Amino acid sequence: MAINIAAYQQIISELQPFHAQLVAVSKTKPVVDIAAFYEAGQRVFGENYVQELVEKQAVLPADITWHFIGHLQSNKVKFIAPFVHTIHAVDSLKLLQEINKQAAKHQRIIHCLLQVHIAAEETKFGLDEQELQQLLQAYAADPAAFAAVRIAGMMGMATNTTNEAQVRKEFHQLHQLFGSVKTTYFNNEAYFKELSIGMSADYPIALQEGSTMVRIGSLLFGERNYSQK
Ligand SMILES: *Cc1c(COP(=O)(O)O)cnc(C)c1O
Repeated sequence: MAINIAAYQQIISELQPFHAQLVAVSKTKPVVDIAAFYEAGQRVFGENYVQELVEKQAVLPADITWHFIGHLQSNKVKFIAPFVHTIHAVDSLKLLQEINKQAAKHQRIIHCLLQVHIAAEETKFGLDEQELQQLLQAYAADPAAFAAVRIAGMMGMATNTTNEAQVRKEFHQLHQLFGSVKTTYFNNEAYFKELSIGMSADYPIALQEGSTMVRIGSLLFGERNYSQK
């Protein structure tokens, strides 16, 4: 299946009234496909695998804003720290500390989103509410120890289901949690503003439930075939 520039234009226009940003998810897709969306005006791309991201970043235009959206192991942060803009799936204090350390080495500030587990499935990564509170308390106790990261918001993945009501409920709950975290831990600071929810199958619901960032892959790039990776 080929890339779909018409779908891209359509999605961009759908996002506009919501002032939401598109992260074009290009995992497993070749650089020529990314270049085609770059030509069409897209600058923000999301990848899931460290090695793949490093290889693509090296050969694609330097003004691409790279988001890492997959599960990230602490020992691999160093490979993407020189250039990554936002890491979506921060799910432990240890990972946040390592991102801070590596960002500081490069005199950079890396934006981080805290991934919260909202789906009914057991398999999806992310913090539960108690772990989220613990992480935020550690952060709030010593913000100066996190000077090279900016906690810019939160991220979640809804249950993979055709039950729209369930997806909506999960997004809604995350939006409410986002609001209370913003007040409690970030004193309503303007920089804590991103709610990364919504993928190809559920982004229209996510937008209605407060998404500021949708992560869309297959609608743009076609279905993924992992065996060809
Ligand atoms: C792959 C992926 C996406 C994009 O999924 P599509 O269904 O292809 O739009 C979004 N978010 C995360 C975390 C992903 O891993």
